[in-house]
Amino acid sequence: MKVFASGRPTVAEVDLKSLEFNYRRLQERIPKGVKLLAVVKADAYGHGAIQVSLKLEKLGVEYLGVAIPEEGVELRRGGVKAPILILGGIFGRDADRIFRFHLTPVVFRKDSLQVLSKEAERRRRKVRVHLKVDTGMGRLGVPFILWPDFLKEVKRSCKIEVEGILSHFSMMDEEGGNFTQHQWKIFQEAVAMVKEMGVSFQYLHMASSATLTRFPSCSGNLVRPGIMLYGAYPSPAFRDLIQLKPIMTLKTRVHFLKHVSPGTKISYGGTFVTKRESLIATLPIGYADGYSRHLSNRGEVLIRGKRAPVVGSVCMDFTMVDVTDIPHVTMGDEVVLMGRQGKEQITAEEIAEKVNSISYEVLCLIGKRVPRIYKGQ
Ligand SMILES: *Cc1c(COP(=O)(O)O)cnc(C)c1O
Repeated sequence: MKVFASGRPTVAEVDLKSLEFNYRRLQERIPKGVKLLAVVKADAYGHGAIQVSLKLEKLGVEYLGVAIPEEGVELRRGGVKAPILILGGIFGRDADRIFRFHLTPVVFRKDSLQVLSKEAERRRRKVRVHLKVDTGMGRLGVPFILWPDFLKEVKRSCKIEVEGILSHFSMMDEEGGNFTQHQWKIFQEAVAMVKEMGVSFQYLHMASSATLTRFPSCSGNLVRPGIMLYGAYPSPAFRDLIQLKPIMTLKTRVHFLKHVSPGTKISYGGTFVTKRESLIATLPIGYADGYSRHLSNRGEVLIRGKRAPVVGSVCMDFTMVDVTDIPHVTMGDEVVLMGRQGKEQITAEEIAEKVNSISYEVLCLIGKRVPRIYKGQ
């Protein structure tokens, strides 16, 4: 869908200077000699993968990570040169793309090894891969008991070049981190088997934002932060551990304003009825833009540096807020739905809590109808 540069004032402003700030805070955290793979999957968690990646590349990031090959292709077409890891593995016809666009797949299936080997043979090239072992996440990765067998298959193909070994933590919020330590121990055993079999590799990696912050010693020599680069937190508990700047401001302007008498129903279903003479503002943003319908009668926005409550149901394209208590609101006033305005701030975590989700989902769901505007290049 074509998004026009001017017109509807609903935009997601992305501050690349703040991205740099977060990148540097994370760099300070990671142990010496450990490199950083920036996770930019899902359009860089809704921030725009190309712009974010080009900025990170300028800052010297070692590696970029995406979920699926298509996202890697998009980055290459956008001019990104850094190595790109495909975290989620490959699907049916991806082998060709892996070579054409110089992508590095994570592999955990024998048939992927075979498909990639075959394509490598056809092209008279080698294929660089990262091997994934499951240490307790239960999602992707070779189950630990099948790991030796899988490694044999890897050794069988002279076209496969192992660049890295990885796994993924699953219990970052756990008090004390027992399961994290357990997973780390299994990972060490898996790595020892790789070494025993004489398979060489460059990278060992397991930690995402949460683990690299809480357990930096479980880092291997490459860490894979995503959410924290964007200035959000895996959960509110991490706010006290590292100070970051949210890089996205979701904003719009008051589109319509009206005085209504007590007893007036607002929006579909009349779930909100005014109790007093009220001033109601209509904002040109709705659930089609990723402003969740769960924020109906729950969300808050910032106008003139103050909080205004969402009243009635969030519609597909519009949301109403009660601005009765905020002096001098006029049509065209700036409204911040997520981000800072004056001394007030609404974070992705605050919204996440209200919609019973996590910061990740709040950011990813910002719709494609909302233009991303970049500053601080
Ligand atoms: C998404 C993802 C990450 C990044 O996680 P954050 O919590 O956003 O830091 C790291 N590794 C893998 C395999 C992922 O899928």
